[in-house]
Amino acid sequence: MKYILYARKSTDEDDRQILSIESQMAELKEFAAKEKLVMATPDLEKIAASFQEAKTAKEPGRMKFGEMLLLIEQGKADGILSWHPDRLARNPIDGGRIIYMVDTGKIKSLKFPSFWFEDTPQGKFMLNIAFGQSKYFIDNLSENVKRGLRQKLRNGVYPGWAPLGYLNDYKNHNIVIHTEKHKLIKRIFELYSTGEYTLKNLADKFNGLGLTSHNGKKVSPGMMLFVLKNPFYYGVFRYKGEIHEGKHEPIITKKLFDQAQEMLKKRGRHHEKKIHNYIFTDFMKCGTCGCAITAEKHKGHIYYRCTKKKGVCAEKYVREENLTGQLKNIMQKVSLPDDWANNMINELNKEKMTTAQSSIALVNSLNQEVKMIENKLDILLDSRLEGVIDKNDYLKKKEELINKKISLEEKIKRINNQGDNWLEPMRDFILRSRLAKKTADEGDLSRFKAFLKNIGSNFIIKRAREIKNEFFISERVQIISTEYFARRKV
Ligand SMILES: [Zn+2]
Repeated sequence: MKYILYARKSTDEDDRQILSIESQMAELKEFAAKEKLVMATPDLEKIAASFQEAKTAKEPGRMKFGEMLLLIEQGKADGILSWHPDRLARNPIDGGRIIYMVDTGKIKSLKFPSFWFEDTPQGKFMLNIAFGQSKYFIDNLSENVKRGLRQKLRNGVYPGWAPLGYLNDYKNHNIVIHTEKHKLIKRIFELYSTGEYTLKNLADKFNGLGLTSHNGKKVSPGMMLFVLKNPFYYGVFRYKGEIHEGKHEPIITKKLFDQAQEMLKKRGRHHEKKIHNYIFTDFMKCGTCGCAITAEKHKGHIYYRCTKKKGVCAEKYVREENLTGQLKNIMQKVSLPDDWANNMINELNKEKMTTAQSSIALVNSLNQEVKMIENKLDILLDSRLEGVIDKNDYLKKKEELINKKISLEEKIKRINNQGDNWLEPMRDFILRSRLAKKTADEGDLSRFKAFLKNIGSNFIIKRAREIKNEFFISERVQIISTEYFARRKV
């Protein structure tokens, strides 16, 4: 197996979540090194080449991408390693080429640190979607990824990097104790529990004892805090807010962990900082003056209001509870029940099968319409020549027919070029809608925000002016997403 590393980030991608090309390469190399341990014959696994590209993948025709496929075509490599499928392709043509090469066995392996691909019909389906869809969508619907993680969680194996004092054992898919470092970790808990050490003292002491992070760096006070707060050391682990019993061997007792937590509480009170996290401030704008929205806390409630940076603005505040209620309503409106969504997806799939035939039929009937217009133009000219109609009527009618003919011909061209392009946006819409209610019910505000940002980014806070009741006006806020409504009309 010979892999090619491929990293890409284009300037038109303003998404800050996408790693820079350099960090993609670093992650890929690290990932490649890790993966080697899994292979039975590590020396067979080599990196054949690496490609970096600062081009958009929305259009076909990237040079490095083409070079990479050529190498594979020539049999010089048979695997690709990339951060995520959307680094490889974001258009159906390039995506189709990759999938075709998987189908024909030219590509034997596709690996992504942030995406789980398996060579099954479902795997290819997910991959296809990943080539065309938004990151949000993939994060939420990549069932393959979730399945893999769930399996690890069920087995009691933390699905990530081993914490300090442990090592990842890739052969046995487990996390094992580091023969040297685990003693130092235990000592950290013991010393901190005495109350005689600050985090800074601890870091200094253990740097002196030679404790280093996984990548060989000095340990910091922040790292000490991270260790002290990690329940992994007494045998459990937290994943996405949920505690799981680990299969790994504990380094400390739960009792010692609890003592350290007590000490953290005691010491923490003195240098506690108040950090308010107002989640929706960067999400909406004022509907009257267009200013940003700010938030403040009064008597246990969070209120959002216009910053009034441009001067006087009459908009009122809105309570966070009220705001989330309204957002929930919006989400429930776009929600589709599972069975509906699944039915629609099935229909779409059938549609896809028959599109080829139906588009031929459509083009045929459009061609016939064009012919009829050409006939009418002939008749029109005859009538003019015979003096049946006057010049103005002739010119007007001719213009009308010519315009109609041109739009028909453009339509034919579009169908011939694009085929079933409308199916994918439709599928995207259905799948997102299926998620909406679930997201609304879960009540996780950061997910609300991510979801709503995804379906429409122009949310504004504005009073509902039709409501006369003064008291009601002051709290009632209209949140409108123009983009959202525009999409619903499609
Ligand atoms: Zn305002």
